[in-house]
Amino acid sequence: MNTQAQCLENLLAFAKSHKLIEESDKIYCRNLIYDMLSLDAPDSFPEPDQGALARHASEILAPLLKEHAGTPVLEELLDAKIMGVLTPRPSEVIREFKANEKESPEKATSAFYEMSKANHYIQMDRIEKNLSWKTSTEYGDLEITVNLSKPEKDPRDIAASRNLVQKGYPKCLLCMENEGFAGNLNHPARQNLRLVPVELAGETWMLQYSPYVYYNEHCIVLSPEHVPMKISEKSFRRLLDFIERFPHYTIGSNSDIPVVGGSILSHDHFQGGRHVFPMAVAKSHSFFSHPAFPEAKISLLVWPLSVIRITMPSKDRLVELCVKILGDWISYSDPEADVIANVEGTRHNAITPIARREEDGTYTMDLVLRNNRASEEHPMGIFHPHQNLHHIKKENIGLIEVLGLAILPGRISQDMEAMASFLSSGSAGGYDLSVHQEWLDGVKERRGIVPKEQASEIVKEEIGLVFRQVLNDAGVFKHSGIGKAQFAKFMGYCGFLQI
Ligand SMILES: [Zn+2]
Repeated sequence: MNTQAQCLENLLAFAKSHKLIEESDKIYCRNLIYDMLSLDAPDSFPEPDQGALARHASEILAPLLKEHAGTPVLEELLDAKIMGVLTPRPSEVIREFKANEKESPEKATSAFYEMSKANHYIQMDRIEKNLSWKTSTEYGDLEITVNLSKPEKDPRDIAASRNLVQKGYPKCLLCMENEGFAGNLNHPARQNLRLVPVELAGETWMLQYSPYVYYNEHCIVLSPEHVPMKISEKSFRRLLDFIERFPHYTIGSNSDIPVVGGSILSHDHFQGGRHVFPMAVAKSHSFFSHPAFPEAKISLLVWPLSVIRITMPSKDRLVELCVKILGDWISYSDPEADVIANVEGTRHNAITPIARREEDGTYTMDLVLRNNRASEEHPMGIFHPHQNLHHIKKENIGLIEVLGLAILPGRISQDMEAMASFLSSGSAGGYDLSVHQEWLDGVKERRGIVPKEQASEIVKEEIGLVFRQVLNDAGVFKHSGIGKAQFAKFMGYCGFLQI
């Protein structure tokens, strides 16, 4: 039995059953892949067997990639190259998206998402390995994900990539020129990436899914140009236009300054998806009105970060109010709250905006106030996770975290087992937990020796509570009596009246 021929027939059957190709594409795709792998075709092709019923294309592909690639990165490159052959061309994807959208926007996004998973652009086989849980807090349930989907680098790949000359194309991971790009040792292959144009604020932007999907239908909407992040009137318009067209999605933008923004500031983009984030269901603690915007419902959220929630029936009016708050915040200082708008010409205030469509058709914008100033005591940022939390989280608190979903590095998962052992038996069994030791000692003091069968759950809960503190640190006006008064003072500065 020719195993490679069997794998390829299974792959073609998988692609057909997942609607990546049609029967009439089969011979054509088969020939392209045989050529790509420099394989001689057998006299007759085997019938697909049970293997074609695999949940993920990667299960079928694995033996072929081992045979033809050699290192993990080369396998990834070949994986995308083969799956690219089995992915409809961009024009076909766009045509289908538009046809589906005529029936319903849900149908359009969900078919596009399914395609992006079936063709292994989104690597669900890896993403399913992520650990996730919820931790209940006074702000509601926070969501925690430990990211185990990024593979460890093979030393051979690292050595080879060192000799590679960095090229300027595509300029970054978010440029639309990634669509179909073959990739190299330093840049992922994207033959199986597809984007769909969407009209936002009179401009064409591109919709794709995130290859890392941290939540359901995690999408990215990116500028067709490689231009830096910039929160402006246009950003608010784009977000609202997006949810008008896709009311089942939430969409937001990272802020446009370092430390309190996301990891990519060089390419303007939004992130969204079909997920109800913890912040979306947060309650309000204070309510306001504005004489110039009598139709607006305005409140402050019971949330560790400082969030103004505004709901209005008109997109244009909501944009107008958001622009006003953005302008007021950018120039606002309150030294008692450690908020200083500008130091020697450098702007420190920014906003992380998030938009949603309500069931009654009105629009909600959550504006999260951010400040990225650092001090001697907090050199990485006053409103950034403080030093004592870095053993769990020291990266930027970007949009997804602001919404109440923590993305923690994979190293935490190994540590968690040892933490559970330490809390139940007093010993980590020789595992080095020194970075966590001070925190673990505090947990032990509060909890005492915990029963072995509960230890893992307690570790998860305690990590969730660290994330709560991470968000507390990122809040400019703390969720306390003084903090609420400082927040109310800013609202007064903007012309809001407390109800
Ligand atoms: Zn770019």
